[in-house]
Amino acid sequence: MNASLLWILLLAGACVGSFINVVAWRLPRQESVVWPGSHCPHCGHSVQWHDNIPVMGWLALRGRCRDCHQPIASRYPLVEALTGGLWVSAAWASGFSSNHLLTAPETTVITLVGGVVLISLLMPLVLIDIDHLWLPEPICRAGVIAGLLATGLVALFAEQETARSVLFNHLLASAAGLLVLESLSALAERLVGQPALGLGDAKLAAMAGAWLGLGGLTVSMGIAVFSGALFGGLARITGRLKPREPFPFGPFIAVGIWLVWLMGPQWWWSQWVALIEP
Ligand SMILES: [Zn+2]
Repeated sequence: MNASLLWILLLAGACVGSFINVVAWRLPRQESVVWPGSHCPHCGHSVQWHDNIPVMGWLALRGRCRDCHQPIASRYPLVEALTGGLWVSAAWASGFSSNHLLTAPETTVITLVGGVVLISLLMPLVLIDIDHLWLPEPICRAGVIAGLLATGLVALFAEQETARSVLFNHLLASAAGLLVLESLSALAERLVGQPALGLGDAKLAAMAGAWLGLGGLTVSMGIAVFSGALFGGLARITGRLKPREPFPFGPFIAVGIWLVWLMGPQWWWSQWVALIEP
């Protein structure tokens, strides 16, 4: 891949990651995400622009506030670096690095922009779900709309005859994701007597359907259930989670969505088949 493009994406992604940190902190507290500027949660002093440079600012301050010297969580630079890295992975998956850019420039650019938008919506959802066991509906709704828009545009530029059926598939998958998870949640609540899934999980599944279509929805939910069950089992065995203590499922759905967006549902399906039929 073009090295300068890689750096631009890494830096732009890290800057957006910095904003995602702000959103993840302020949205659940019903604070404005644009005003006032960043300030230290301990002493309230505003953060100077050069201390706010993604990752570098934190490293230069050695993870402490310039004014009160209280530690600044390492999660902030980690989220910035991760967002930058995931933006680069979007460029790789969209074919930006290969000759796709020459043969199909429109779809390559739309796919890259779509991937970057998808990551930037999934990241705050994951962080807020980890902190508050809550997946904010406005972000999920924006994710459904963005997913259908990206799907429609790519289909339109790629093959005009099939555009309508591709969009219909993703629309159907979005509704199916919402309905299936909501019914499973209601069923589990009746059987176990406590909600097994949050309502937000159904909204995130709707987002998965909008971006990935019916096949992609199925595979991404498979990855989510598998990794979530593995995590939940290990966490309970090691005592990090109490027997009935809930844990956020949103991050596992988000990982499933991203892995399927990167590699495509067919690739994951063939991996699964190879695993069970050696
Ligand atoms: Zn401070």
